[in-house]
Amino acid sequence: MQTGIIADIQRSSVHDGPGLRTTVFFKGCPLHCAWCHNPETIDPKPQLLEYPEKCICCGMCSKGCFSGAKVICGKEMSSDEVMEQILHDKQYYVKGGGVTFSGGEPFMQADFLNTLIDKCKSQGIHTAVETSMAIYSEAVISKLDLIMCDLKIWDKDIHREYVGIDPGIIRANIEKADMLGIPIILRTPVIPGIKQEIDKISAFAKQLNNVIQYELLPYHPLGTEKAKAMGIEQKEFKTPSNEYMEELKKYAYIR
Ligand code: SF4
Ligand code: SF4
Repeated sequence: MQTGIIADIQRSSVHDGPGLRTTVFFKGCPLHCAWCHNPETIDPKPQLLEYPEKCICCGMCSKGCFSGAKVICGKEMSSDEVMEQILHDKQYYVKGGGVTFSGGEPFMQADFLNTLIDKCKSQGIHTAVETSMAIYSEAVISKLDLIMCDLKIWDKDIHREYVGIDPGIIRANIEKADMLGIPIILRTPVIPGIKQEIDKISAFAKQLNNVIQYELLPYHPLGTEKAKAMGIEQKEFKTPSNEYMEELKKYAYIR
């Protein structure tokens, strides 16, 4: 039986694509963005997060922690188990709603992702992916109804320093995906203090045929607490001001 390692499944999500969605978070990501909002999904294996301030000293650790002081992120699940949760809300997937495969990087488990997309399609469920575009599988990506991906920094050296790889790989993969005729939403998390060259990223997006939207998302230090629970110190950046986000609005667009 085919299985995958899933970090979480969130139902009734309104932030991960159009309509009401179920978001399946895959474990594993080949990148290491310095501001990662889901650092618990980077390691492909299940891992322990510890929040000692929540411990009520009940001494029941061997039976599993019910106070949230020790949390395992990552569970091996079969495609049928994941589908059972997806199908729960099928009646609510109206107005473009459906399933979003996120992470982590869903393409780290491309075969499992492929199976889930096939199963969703056989049920008539809209499928979207949130991907870093660091990994590209045409056979899988071409089956999707919507691609949501990031281009975070333009400059090669700065991208390497903060994200981990050459941005040329990501740009080339976005260009390949653009040829498939599937709508793409391109996004940049806005991180004050890093030279991202959002003007160049916006111009790159505009010359593609199928980027229906270029979005700018303000950085939020969502990952620092979770990184600490994993014993990792994550740098905290400044949250962009409303004025700064307003100033950058001229680069965002919807087609
Ligand atoms: S089960 Fe949780 S709350 Fe109880 S002692 Fe263990 S860590 Fe603390
Ligand atoms: S691509 Fe996403 S999951 Fe991977 S390190 Fe960057 S922010 Fe985290």
